[in-house]
Amino acid sequence: MSKILYVSSEAFPLIKTGGLADVAGSLPIALSNLSEDIRLLLPAYPQVLQQVENVKQLASGAYYNLKVSLLETQLPNSKVPVWLVHCPAAFDRPGGPYMDSNGQPWHDNALRFAVFCKVAVDIAMNKLNLRWQPDIVHGNDWQSGLIPALLHPFKQRPATVFTIHNLAYQGLFDHQTFLDLELSSELWHPDGLEFYDQLSFIKGGLVFADRINTVSPTYADEILQPEFGNGLSGLLQHRQARLSGILNGIDHSVWNPATDPHLAACYDTTTLQQKSLNKTALQKQFHLPIDAKIPLIGMISRMVEQKGLDIILQAMAEMLAMPLQLVILGSGDIHYEMRLMEWSRKHPDRLKVIIGYNEPLSHQIEASSDLFLMPSTFEPCGLNQLYSLRYGTLPIARNVGGLADTVVDASKQNRANTTANGFVMTSQSATALQATVKRALTLYAQPDVWRQLQLTAMNGDFSWTHSAEHYIELYLQALADRDQTAD
Ligand code: ADP
Repeated sequence: MSKILYVSSEAFPLIKTGGLADVAGSLPIALSNLSEDIRLLLPAYPQVLQQVENVKQLASGAYYNLKVSLLETQLPNSKVPVWLVHCPAAFDRPGGPYMDSNGQPWHDNALRFAVFCKVAVDIAMNKLNLRWQPDIVHGNDWQSGLIPALLHPFKQRPATVFTIHNLAYQGLFDHQTFLDLELSSELWHPDGLEFYDQLSFIKGGLVFADRINTVSPTYADEILQPEFGNGLSGLLQHRQARLSGILNGIDHSVWNPATDPHLAACYDTTTLQQKSLNKTALQKQFHLPIDAKIPLIGMISRMVEQKGLDIILQAMAEMLAMPLQLVILGSGDIHYEMRLMEWSRKHPDRLKVIIGYNEPLSHQIEASSDLFLMPSTFEPCGLNQLYSLRYGTLPIARNVGGLADTVVDASKQNRANTTANGFVMTSQSATALQATVKRALTLYAQPDVWRQLQLTAMNGDFSWTHSAEHYIELYLQALADRDQTAD
């Protein structure tokens, strides 16, 4: 059993903007179920404080002249202790964890997450009298990137693991910010935190962590290439021996069509015919023609370039000319939101676009749809295709990252050996997307074939059990690497 400090800037159900929250809200539970002694460290955003109960103060102090206290509570529906970095000046404000309500990054993000990292370092170095010192500090994404860099100089320190959930978000700030944060001048170096004259938080993890991993094996390979490396492929090649990929799991207590409280009708592999009741309920809710037989394509996504919105928009006219309905839920770049809304105003009987963030609706769309659209340009793991598979909703996905690791194309051969569970596009173009949708509709018209594809999808094992075991192996490797470095 190891003591693990799991550091994340979001965790479901307390605060969520994307896949990181789902992972941080479920991997610690899976590790705790495997008898690991794990604590989750999270900023005390107002949304978090509103939801938690039995809060107790563990320590208090000041970082960068800002008052900070460390609070203890529990992750809802689990025994996992959550430690909250309560720094009102940094985190107690309306808006999102990273952006204000106008979608602009908070002007003081560097300071906010430097405070967060410094608290993690003090816990790691047993400076807060908590009577609990971790063996491993596991950081996630740029918001916890400074931790391995700040821990590295200590001779006696916990081992560090850093997980890349998305290399495109790096936490870049100007040199003045580096000076303001009073980081050691030795770190201002290309082998440290400097990235083309900017301060890079993520480099703290990539350069200094004992072990680095990403959230799928294919993405771990891809980021070694300039095309997917966001300027960091050289560094990652240099650290390749310490880099691996572990596929995310999904939380079956949250994403399970047999028990999902948000659905009009629950179903499993033995009651699959019930699934279409969800479709007709959704059609009714969104004033689409009610027809259980028409193929319904769903999409739930941050509306950013990564998610393939350009080719979706280019292919829209062709897709809407096909006998199908499309329901899209998401928010993000205003320009994508507006163009999608325009299409939906022109085709109200075919396309419904809902701008916003809506957890229950995301479950309803997963259950109602026959197909799920995910033509990402890159995808570190992707969780929505995993939820889709579990809900018998076949993904239309690009062969990149975690999508390539989880979606098996319905080719003749894969159907014959019953491994097929979706539709894979091998190039990123509107033409490829249209052709793949057409191919999917052809098989949709063959109910027996479709049913087999759904059963294969629903029977796939994407639970956390295996992945959590891989994380335990990774922790052991990190401990060994730390000891080797210290020698
Ligand atoms: P990413 O982390 O890149 O956004 P993932 O597929 O890994 O993509 O995870 C996205 C998570 O966020 C999923 O749980 C998805 O259902 C959820 N999500 C994204 N957009 C919305 C939205 N508008 N409403 C509800 N949930 C959303």
